Amino acid sequence: MGEATNGKVPQSVKYAIIGAGIHGLSTALHLAQMLKKTGRGSGEDILVVDKTAIAAGASGIACGVVRNNYFQPAMRELMAQSVEVWESDPKAYAYHPVGYMQISPECMHEDVASIYEQQKAIGYESVFIEGAADCQKYMTGLFDDWQAKGITSVLHEKKGGYANNTKSIYGLADKAEAEGVRIMTGVEVRGFEFGSNSGAVTALNTSRGRIGCDYVIVGAGPWVSRIWNMLELPKRISIKGRDGKMHDDVGMWIYWCLEEGTLGVDPEMHKTNDGRMPPVIHVDTDAPLYSDVDGSLITDKLWGLYYKPDFNFGGVQGGSSPYKVDQDPDTVAVDPYGPDSPDFIVGDNFIHTWCSMLAHCQKRFEGKISLYKYKERSGGLGCFTPDSFPVFDVFRENVYVIADSNHGYKMLGVGKLVAQEVMGEKSALLEPFRFARFEKGELHPTSHSPFPWS
Ligand SMILES: Cc1cc2nc3c(=O)[nH]c(=O)nc-3n(C[C@H](O)[C@H](O)[C@H](O)COP(=O)(O)OP(=O)(O)OC[C@H]3O[C@@H](n4cnc5c(N)ncnc54)[C@H](O)[C@@H]3O)c2cc1C
Repeated sequence: MGEATNGKVPQSVKYAIIGAGIHGLSTALHLAQMLKKTGRGSGEDILVVDKTAIAAGASGIACGVVRNNYFQPAMRELMAQSVEVWESDPKAYAYHPVGYMQISPECMHEDVASIYEQQKAIGYESVFIEGAADCQKYMTGLFDDWQAKGITSVLHEKKGGYANNTKSIYGLADKAEAEGVRIMTGVEVRGFEFGSNSGAVTALNTSRGRIGCDYVIVGAGPWVSRIWNMLELPKRISIKGRDGKMHDDVGMWIYWCLEEGTLGVDPEMHKTNDGRMPPVIHVDTDAPLYSDVDGSLITDKLWGLYYKPDFNFGGVQGGSSPYKVDQDPDTVAVDPYGPDSPDFIVGDNFIHTWCSMLAHCQKRFEGKISLYKYKERSGGLGCFTPDSFPVFDVFRENVYVIADSNHGYKMLGVGKLVAQEVMGEKSALLEPFRFARFEKGELHPTSHSPFPWS
């Protein structure tokens, strides 16, 4: 699968896609299907290039959580569409529809209640429990050792769940190749050629030579800021704030580091009381967090974690809130990426905190920190937009940029909508994610969650 490129790249292609992650490959697959269906071409018109390999970026290290729980209506509707795509071929996508739970403190109660109401309105199946006593009862009905404090609402999404990161991306690549799409790895895009009469891109300049192209789709994940610079798009932008005032000179990109890891317990131990695979658990709480090692106070501020049993990782895998990389994005060392990075992987502080969070939530995880998988380094960078929501838009007339602001492994369906737009049909679901929203002040509402992606 995927062609490692020693020789030359094609002289020209109709559609050039940069990046063999979830977005590049989903777009390739769906575009190929639509070209065939409409008699306007086929997968053979599409070339995907990746500088490293299939699933070499964020898609290959994602925790793999697929959920609908978003405070922003536009995000929720988009996620519902993506869940349908996951459900269309669970085997190929290594998708486990175990459901998802958002377990929250009082300061998030109202936000989550509105999510529940809107899930009902769009027909997304979920259950909402309110009040500390009822929440505790519901949770102990699932896990008899449940002990998280400060919880006053539980949103239990019956759809969604998680998928195995690399398996699903390989599944996607297989499906795209079966449609005739060509995937070439070891081909790095280093620049673009622009038309003399227009700003459109006429060719990619790659490490293996020039590729002329009619249309470009960018699915470069954490490297999007690099491609953005090559396209000579603005590094600093103006944003109309909620206060109605223009805020000039705001950086277009900012990196955050995601912290994740695996507790090397038997994944079976996290099953529910009736022996089933549990939903993905996400807990936010303002209850004080104490060390599971020495009982010292770790934080008395709002904190959150997520976790799931994972047979691929061999344990219970998950993470906690990311941190901002307070640096000019052009100077952030994105390569080597993920677990290979010397700078952006988890350290002892994360391990101590996350294991203490697990123990705070369920007694079965108390005293288990020594089982943490220290040798398997995890975590990695995400490239975020100024409001931490995606930008899906066309630049320079023929370049479709898919910049998901790190929301995106779950967004398998975005490639289908992008393909539809490339074919000339606008998508109402993508409309709230245009670049012009910054200047127009059409920003998404923000929630009280401690995570930048809720
Ligand atoms: C630790 C971590 C956990 C996460 N967990 C979740 C989760 O549970 N659920 C969720 O929904 N999202 C999660 N995310 C976010 C999600 O992984 C990303 O939003 C998504 O995978 C991005 O997909 P992509 O296709 O845009 O980019 P990627 O998967 O990063 O793919 C981009 C590809 O582009 C290639 N590339 C880059 N530059 C060039 C170039 N110049 N020339 C050629 N090729 C190039 C790279 O080699 C790479 O393979 C997580 C992210 C991280 C870092």
